[in-house]
Amino acid sequence: MADLRELYQEIILEHCKQPRNYRALPAANHKAEGYNPLCGDHYTVYLNVEGDTIRDVSFEGSGCAISKASASMMTQALKGKSCAEADAIFERFHKLVTGQAESNGTQALGKLAAFSGVSEFPVRVKCATLAWHTLQAALKDQQEPVSTE
Ligand code: ZN
Repeated sequence: MADLRELYQEIILEHCKQPRNYRALPAANHKAEGYNPLCGDHYTVYLNVEGDTIRDVSFEGSGCAISKASASMMTQALKGKSCAEADAIFERFHKLVTGQAESNGTQALGKLAAFSGVSEFPVRVKCATLAWHTLQAALKDQQEPVSTE
C-alpha cells in the first residue's frame, strides 16, 4: 500500500510540474471560471463540444498541486467522452475523493485513482474537485464564476 501511495504522489507531482492541455482553447464553445478562495486556486476551463461529444478540453490558471494535477488529469480523462460519460466520471471521482468509492468504481477511474488519498484531507476535496465543478458550469454555460464557498 505504501508503494501505491508513493506512485500516486508521483503522478500528482508530475502533472503539477507539466500540466496537460494547459492552454487557452481558441476553438472553445464553452468556458467557465472557478475559484477556491480557501486555498487560492483559480482556473478557467475551456471546452469544445460538438453534438454531445467533448472534442477538446483545456485549462489555464494557478493553484496548489492537487488542484492543478486534478485539472490536468481531468482534461486527459474527458477528451473524446460524451457529456453523460463526463458526468459519470465526475460522480465516481467525487465519491473517491470524499471516501465513498466502491472498489470497482476506483478501478474504472484509471490514473485518477491517484487522488484517493485526498479523502483523508477534507479541506483538499475542494482543491481536487474545483476543475470538475468548473467544467460542469462550462457545459451549462453558467456565466457566474464557480466558487467552492
Ligand atoms: Zn488548492
